[in-house]
Amino acid sequence: MTDAQPGPNQTRPDQPDPDQTCDRCGPAVRAAYRVHRQGELYLCKHCANRLWPDLSRRGWTIWPVGEATCSASG
Ligand SMILES: [Zn+2]
Repeated sequence: MTDAQPGPNQTRPDQPDPDQTCDRCGPAVRAAYRVHRQGELYLCKHCANRLWPDLSRRGWTIWPVGEATCSASG
């Protein structure tokens, strides 16, 4: 028996799930944006565009699903 090697398909909990759905539209709409502050929200483009100014003003961080968190801006 050889040691188990970590494969490329290993789950990475720090990565956003590309199959998330919009928290406002329901499971029928795939999320396009991920919003994070104290918790986490997933929004489709439509909802993100509508809520963006409000979320941004409240300090929520918004970025496209599938992209790494950008922590360089401040
Ligand atoms: Zn939506």
